[in-house]
Amino acid sequence: MLALFTNHYTRRTLLCMSAAALLWSGSPAVHANAARYHTLPELKSGGPAAPDSKETAAAARKELFEQMSAATGIPWFRFAAIDQYERSVAKKKTKSDAAETGTAAAKPRVTGIIIPAPVWSGPLNPDQNDKLQDSISFFGGLGRDGSGDGKADPGNDADVLYSMASHLLKYGDSASDFNIAIWEYYHNGRAAQRVSQFAKLYEHFGRLDLSGSAFPLPIGTNYSYRSTWGTGRSWGGARIHEGTDLFAPHGLTVRSTCFGIVETKGWNRYGGWRIGIRDIENRYHYYAHLMGYEKTLKRGDIVAPGQTIGWVGSSGYGSPGTQGKFPPHLHYGIYRDRGITEWAFDPYPLLKQWENQEYRQLRKNKKK
Ligand SMILES: [Zn+2]
Repeated sequence: MLALFTNHYTRRTLLCMSAAALLWSGSPAVHANAARYHTLPELKSGGPAAPDSKETAAAARKELFEQMSAATGIPWFRFAAIDQYERSVAKKKTKSDAAETGTAAAKPRVTGIIIPAPVWSGPLNPDQNDKLQDSISFFGGLGRDGSGDGKADPGNDADVLYSMASHLLKYGDSASDFNIAIWEYYHNGRAAQRVSQFAKLYEHFGRLDLSGSAFPLPIGTNYSYRSTWGTGRSWGGARIHEGTDLFAPHGLTVRSTCFGIVETKGWNRYGGWRIGIRDIENRYHYYAHLMGYEKTLKRGDIVAPGQTIGWVGSSGYGSPGTQGKFPPHLHYGIYRDRGITEWAFDPYPLLKQWENQEYRQLRKNKKK
């Protein structure tokens, strides 16, 4: 535990220890400990530095989630899932939100969770920048002081996580209680679905980094593809072509390109037998015209890059079972969830990148 205090996240660790102290206020031993931690001097380097790389940022986040988990009994992966959901849909608006909540000049945040002012301070609170626990509670706001500094600050990570934890704890601690709490927070079914998917992924793999990738077809087999973004479709009216067609023999293995969770599986008039997989970046990977699926795979299952999910076919463009209206190929598309709408983006550059990565890996393995 002492090692925690030697890195440059010392202050954040302190903040969390006092959140723990608040919750365990019945235990004098914890109080004594919290007091001891509070007397630790700040680091000479000027306190918490901005996370200097992706890895250290992720490590700091994981540490914070685990500490808040120890303090509140809420599993770390639930904090991580909410944080990741907000990161993935709110990337573009973070700056303006930070300005609105008066946190623009504040220290860089470790988490991406932004609790809007009316929710934090209470919708009828005349002071929408209220940081006083008592008046916030009086107006029904979520804001809590998790850092023990006497202020409930929406720009402070410990305060934000502790406030979220207090909200979650009102509903109970099962996975379905958690889903209800999330629904009550966002009032949005899609948000609730995403957060529960992310929580499942984090719980399953036990880590924050789920960024691996694979090409959807086995490398070195007989396939061909080119950039077909936006070209017309021959069936189903004038719609742009949202994806890349990879032409390949009937029955060739189709593999998951990412760590993800199976969100959709079944027949679609356009896509035939198709499967949709959600990844931790909130991207939806869509595989269409399959001949069939890997038998054991069902909705809610978790997959890893390279895992077999089905086989290339020519199903689609009609009622269930229709096939052979076009040459066999895998239609692969990616959609990004921005909270309100899902945007398709061109998967071709990513496909090229994944293919090259795997070729390089193969050559490396051969040399060994
Ligand atoms: Zn296509």
